[in-house]
Amino acid sequence: MRFFASRLGIDLGTANTLVYVPGKGIVLNEPSVVAVSEHDRRILAVGAEAKEMVGKTPESIVAYRPMADGVIADYRVTEAMLAYFIRKALGRWTFSKPEVLVSVPAGVTSTERRAVIEAAIKAGAKAAYVVKEPILAAIGAGIPIHESKGRMIVDIGGGTTDVAVISLGGIVACASVKCAGNRLDGAIAEYVKKTFNLGIGETTAERIKIEVGSAVLVEDELEMAVKGRDYLTGLPRSVTIKTNEIVKAIQRELKEMVGAIKTVLQETPPELASDIIDTGIVMTGGSSQLRNMPELVFRRTGVKAILAKDALHCVANGTGVALEHLDTYKRSILAKR
Ligand code: ADP
Ligand code: MG
Repeated sequence: MRFFASRLGIDLGTANTLVYVPGKGIVLNEPSVVAVSEHDRRILAVGAEAKEMVGKTPESIVAYRPMADGVIADYRVTEAMLAYFIRKALGRWTFSKPEVLVSVPAGVTSTERRAVIEAAIKAGAKAAYVVKEPILAAIGAGIPIHESKGRMIVDIGGGTTDVAVISLGGIVACASVKCAGNRLDGAIAEYVKKTFNLGIGETTAERIKIEVGSAVLVEDELEMAVKGRDYLTGLPRSVTIKTNEIVKAIQRELKEMVGAIKTVLQETPPELASDIIDTGIVMTGGSSQLRNMPELVFRRTGVKAILAKDALHCVANGTGVALEHLDTYKRSILAKR
């Protein structure tokens, strides 16, 4: 008789954390947020509950997004977050400690990598593996990463845009910029403020982006009514916003994202670059779903780009595949304890 070893894959995103259980798929998807009380630094809540608390509770609460900068900002907070997600994914009545595979940014230092492993062990894991996120995104996008062909994967999430060229299961060239979905929301809020004298929140800005936003100018514009607070009168007011004004409002941010792709293309050895022209750039992450994002990448780089199937879940799905074939992926796995 064989005991069923419990295994968990965790996509620690800058915006959202997803937990994958082999055989079950994604069992949990919550904001990567930890609410900490300002006066005694107590951890009050994690995930969806933490996001709910922020800005709605009179008590002074600080919202930490441990992954927001693409690195483990605060060890204690990261550990609390991992513990919460592991416990929640496993349920109360699990006695065996799980093996945990966690995604880490491609640019992590060995110290940060160890910090994640330590945090996972302290959070209740029996063993912890960390795998670089672009590798997982590629696996989740169905790219055969062990071939000698060069492949480019671009993951645009909430906090960072990560670009990597993969060949023979390893990363050949990569870049990461702290410009992604959150910055697009910020630019939209700023535009609405400057143009209409209207104050809107992060959530509204994100909704505008998703509902009517686009990466390139379009002929048939979409439009939506946006409610906010007038800066002069302090009263609520509504305006209509159309696609092309959003395209212009987010120009600078889009340019920075595409800039990261260009940099990596320029650093890619010629043989691999020619593979990428054949296979195309594969795009994953929530912000790659912005309307016409692959089209913008194609126009600016001359290389065709495609949105991966299930783009939002590629990293999490990749952790699942890697867990099911740990031996095959050993080479790409950074560390274990
Ligand atoms: P992370 O991995 O950094 O946690 P995700 O891959 O989950 O991030 O992506 C989250 C980001 O994707 C958010 O900024 C969100 O606004 C954005 N996003 C999700 N869906 C869309 C969409 N359809 N169009 C544009 N942006 C989107
Ligand atoms: Mg991600």
